[in-house]
Amino acid sequence: MSYPVSYYCPHCGTVAEIEREGYLADKSVTPYPLVGWEYADPDGDFETADGIRLVCGEDADRVRWTEQRSDADDVEDPAADAPCGSELYLSFVRYVDGEEVEPRPEPTYTEIAGGGPSGPDGPSGPRFGR
Ligand SMILES: [Zn+2]
Repeated sequence: MSYPVSYYCPHCGTVAEIEREGYLADKSVTPYPLVGWEYADPDGDFETADGIRLVCGEDADRVRWTEQRSDADDVEDPAADAPCGSELYLSFVRYVDGEEVEPRPEPTYTEIAGGGPSGPDGPSGPRFGR
């Protein structure tokens, strides 16, 4: 059973509706991929991936971008043109050995606005057993 769930772009706040299976639990939407997560295209088989790589404003079979914009505090640039065309990453909760995996580094939703995109951090050992 799938149903639409709403998300918003962390850059400009444009709201998207994504048709997905109900058993998937969301972790976060970030402007960059989480370390250790594997992302599928929105037209792909994302139920078996760890998340979905989206492009703001690009509709797909199960993704519909709306005219609405979120006024949440963590929207990076509420005055930006919308949709902004940026990549964003919807991450599902992952479990390894029955324990919920935390991304590292911790999501830095607000810092990114100041210093420009800071990609995944440098070399780091596998911390989650992969
Ligand atoms: Zn956007």
